[in-house]
Amino acid sequence: MNDCIFCKIARGEIPSRKVYEDDEILAFHDIGPVTPVHFLIIPKLHIPSLAEADLSHQAVLGKMLGLAGRLAREQGLADGFRTIINTGRIGRQEVYHLHVHILGGPEPLGPMVRK
Ligand code: AMP
Ligand code: ZN
Repeated sequence: MNDCIFCKIARGEIPSRKVYEDDEILAFHDIGPVTPVHFLIIPKLHIPSLAEADLSHQAVLGKMLGLAGRLAREQGLADGFRTIINTGRIGRQEVYHLHVHILGGPEPLGPMVRK
């Protein structure tokens, strides 16, 4: 057992608003959405960040991206969306369990990076 908040969500110990779940992947709405639709796709396996991911994680990483379009469409993002993976201090990652942000809404998003 570990104290990682996303592992706890994956184990069902902390509630989340689920978008999708299978044996390897969970997707759930972000608790602090920054766009009208904002959800996260995580592997159930604890990988701290993309910096620690390697080719042994190829299948689950591929599955996360392979599901993104379908899940985005199911959440109403028919005209596109943005995917973000923040990594480490420079990437301003806050939760050290790898996750892909899926962001979108009815209007085009702002600039990709402000600074
Ligand atoms: P990052 O800065 O890429 O690590 O993003 C972490 C994201 O996790 C933020 O957008 C938070 O709002 C989100 N978050 C933190 N705790 C929870 C939670 N319990 N349920 C859903 N989203 C969360
Ligand atoms: Zn974790």
